[in-house]
Amino acid sequence: MELEVMVADVIQEAHDTTTLVLFTGNDHMDYLSGHFLTIDPHQFEALGRWIAFLEDVKGKKELPRAYSMASAPDEHYLAITVKEERYVPGYTKYPPLLSPILAQRTATGRKMLVTGFTGPYTLPKEGKTPSSILHIAAGSGIVPNWSILKFGLRNHPEMIQTLLYSNKTWLDTIYGEELIKLQKEFPDQLDIKFFITRENPPLSTNAAVVGGRIDKLTIEKAIEQLDDPLVYVCGPANTVHDKKLAKESNESLNPRFMESTLGYLSEIGIDKSRIKRESYG
Ligand SMILES: Cc1cc2nc3c(=O)[nH]c(=O)nc-3n(C[C@H](O)[C@H](O)[C@H](O)COP(=O)(O)OP(=O)(O)OC[C@H]3O[C@@H](n4cnc5c(N)ncnc54)[C@H](O)[C@@H]3O)c2cc1C
Repeated sequence: MELEVMVADVIQEAHDTTTLVLFTGNDHMDYLSGHFLTIDPHQFEALGRWIAFLEDVKGKKELPRAYSMASAPDEHYLAITVKEERYVPGYTKYPPLLSPILAQRTATGRKMLVTGFTGPYTLPKEGKTPSSILHIAAGSGIVPNWSILKFGLRNHPEMIQTLLYSNKTWLDTIYGEELIKLQKEFPDQLDIKFFITRENPPLSTNAAVVGGRIDKLTIEKAIEQLDDPLVYVCGPANTVHDKKLAKESNESLNPRFMESTLGYLSEIGIDKSRIKRESYG
């Protein structure tokens, strides 16, 4: 379904991350928490010459980019949260195309076409709601989990949720303060631990914010405290481009957040059927 939306609000979540609140003209949109929409970069006139150049050097058409719903289906607005990708000389092959303009150069009133809604990273259908969920997220991987968390807390009071959320610094932590507020609002249904990997000690003094990475022991303990949880994992993974490069240069790939987390879950003995995953690469 293609929709014309208007940007009704622009909320800066972190120095490189912005939530775009989208006005659709409809009171209710039919999607599930965890679904994503897509945005075709060809619609942005300012990107025209840039797209022509990239399509020329890559030898293929630039595809629509996917963005998870940051809003939940019981909210009266649509929202996405976009983190600006960076060009890192010597590491990234091309400068990123769409995320810089969505995250840093989109003003209220801007109209755009979006196509939605789809994706398998959602809550099971009504009647099959799990008794508990463990969310494990890193960086912008929080976005679909944020939607599932909000929707679950308000609509499934019997469901217990735990979030383990990793970022480089507290200021990179998307929805940090809002998550803390949510935990205070739903103390019996929600437990959150924030992990900060590159700031010692973490800038936030909140007890839920700790230094270090999400490791196997932390995941194991969180699972022990839940009743056979469904596990949702979302965050950076090695991309097809990373894999291709490693193969060409005969080098082995270091595991990123997704590979490490799935490895821990397998060692802990969590059946694959209990795990949902989404990576943004
Ligand atoms: C299901 C899903 C949901 C997502 N949800 C979100 C979300 O909620 N928020 C969010 O911020 N992002 C999300 N993403 C990521 C998003 O879709 C984009 O990938 C991201 O915004 C980067 O897009 P870009 O156009 O800026 O960068 P791109 O132009 O796509 O570039 C990204 C990287 O890929 C490299 N690259 C591109 N083409 C090639 C090539 N041919 N060879 C080698 N390297 C190449 C570039 O060098 C760069 O490092 C999601 C992705 C998926 C799949």
